[in-house]
Amino acid sequence: MLVVQTFSVSPVPAGLTIVSRDETTDGRLHLDVRPVQRSSSCPDCGRHSSGVHSHYQRHLADLPWHGRIVAMRLTARRFRCRTPDCKMQIFTERLPGVAAWRAQRSDRLAESQRAIALVAGGEPGSRLAHRLAMPVSGDTLLRMIRSAPVPGFVAPTIVGIDDWAWRRGQRYGTIICDLERNRVLDLLPDRNADSVADWLKRWPGIKIVARDRAGVYAHGARRGAPGAMQVADRWHLLSGLGEALRQAVSRHRSAVSAATKIMASAQGAQANPAPTSPGLTKLRADRKAGRRERWEEICQLDKLGHPTSSIAELVGVTQRTVQRWIAGGGEPEHVRPHIQSHLLGPFEEWLEARWRSGHQVGQQLWRELKELGYKGSRNTVAR
Ligand SMILES: [Zn+2]
Repeated sequence: MLVVQTFSVSPVPAGLTIVSRDETTDGRLHLDVRPVQRSSSCPDCGRHSSGVHSHYQRHLADLPWHGRIVAMRLTARRFRCRTPDCKMQIFTERLPGVAAWRAQRSDRLAESQRAIALVAGGEPGSRLAHRLAMPVSGDTLLRMIRSAPVPGFVAPTIVGIDDWAWRRGQRYGTIICDLERNRVLDLLPDRNADSVADWLKRWPGIKIVARDRAGVYAHGARRGAPGAMQVADRWHLLSGLGEALRQAVSRHRSAVSAATKIMASAQGAQANPAPTSPGLTKLRADRKAGRRERWEEICQLDKLGHPTSSIAELVGVTQRTVQRWIAGGGEPEHVRPHIQSHLLGPFEEWLEARWRSGHQVGQQLWRELKELGYKGSRNTVAR
C-alpha cells in the first residue's frame, strides 16, 4: 500500500494567511493576505491588545513562488493600547518573524537578498536577484550589506603578533591575529611595546602570545599579558632555523666544494674552485659564491646532457632560472649600489652592526643616527 504523507505548504510566511490571489499579465503573483494573530503587543508598554482601531494596507514583497515574483497586499491593523498612561494610545501591529515594522519586504526575502548581496555585491547581486524573481536595486543591496548583523565575536585566547609594512623597509605597524579562528583582530599603526601592551590589556583571557624573536613584542606582551605564555611562531622558528642552517653550511664551504670536485671528477668533468671577493662583506661574498657554485653545477649537468627540468631539480632552483642563466652564459651579478655619502661614512660600521642585530627599519635607524650626530637625510639611511 502506498502511503502518501501530506504536509501543508503555504506560499506566504507563517503568521499570514491568504485571503485571495490573482495573477496579473506580467506574470506576478498578487496575494491579498492578513495576519493570523488576534492581538499585538504595544511597542511602548508591551501590553497585548486586541482592540482594533482601524485597518490599513501594507505592500510586502516575498520570496518567489515557482519562479514568479510574489507581491503581497497585507491588511494590517491599528490597535488601541489599554494601559491608561501609555504614550501609544494607538499603535500599528507588529509582525515578528514576518516583516520588520515599515519594511517593504518579508524577513525571509530580505535574508535571501542579503545572502545574494554578500556573495555578489551591489549591482551584480541586483542582476542575479532580478533573474531569480526577487528584484531589488543595487543600492538597496549595499544598504542590506551594511546593516547585516556582525557574526558573534569570541574573545581571543591565543593571538599572534607580527609586523606589517605601511611601506617596506621604512614604516611598520603591528598586526594581531586570532590564531584559533585565523582572523585578523587588529592593526596597530606602530611597532611599539606600549601599543601592544595596551591592546593586550583589553583582553585579559589571552593565554598564549605567538611572536617573532624581536624584543619589542616580548616586552609588550610581558607588560600587557603577564600571565600569558610567549612562544615563537612556526614561521619565525623555521625562518631562524633556515638561516642557521645556511650559515652552518656556508662555514663548511671548502668541504662542500671538495665533495663536488670528487663527484665531478668521477663523472669526468672538472670543477673550478669558487673565487672569493675580499672587498665584499662576508654575507654578500657567501651569496655570490653560492650563485657561482650553482652556475657551475648547472654547467656540468648541462654538459652531461641533462634536461633543464632535471637540472632545476638537482640544483634546487627554478627551471626558468636554469634557462635564463644558460642563455645569459653565467650566473647574474647582484649589483648593489654603493652608498656614497660622506655624511653617512663615519657611521657605516655602526649601521651595519645594527642591521645585523635585526634593527632594519630605516626610519628608526635614522632617528638613532641623528642622536649620534648624523646630519644626512632619512632616504640615504633607508637606501
Ligand atoms: Zn502601550
